Amino acid sequence: MAQRGAQLDPRKLSCSICLDLLKDPVTVPCGHSYCSRCIQRHWEEDVSGFYSCPQCRKRFLVRPDLTKNILLAELVEDLKNTELQRLSTWTKG
Ligand SMILES: [Zn+2]
Ligand SMILES: [Zn+2]
Repeated sequence: MAQRGAQLDPRKLSCSICLDLLKDPVTVPCGHSYCSRCIQRHWEEDVSGFYSCPQCRKRFLVRPDLTKNILLAELVEDLKNTELQRLSTWTKG
């Protein structure tokens, strides 16, 4: 059973490139996740000739297919919702 309302750790749901919450999260083959735009821009700017993961530096010779990570996207939404609720209780209080 998924625990509703379990504490979500924003750090686990943030992109190590823009340091913000994941936007359109995609997962690269090493298992790390980034915003789809961030990782694509990273690879466009990467002059090494490899497609590397900014976190673990794993290199991919061919540009990996980026598939949206739906689970992560949902977690980010959950986190945003709980943040919003928290903020609205603050303003009320
Ligand atoms: Zn990002
Ligand atoms: Zn990685």
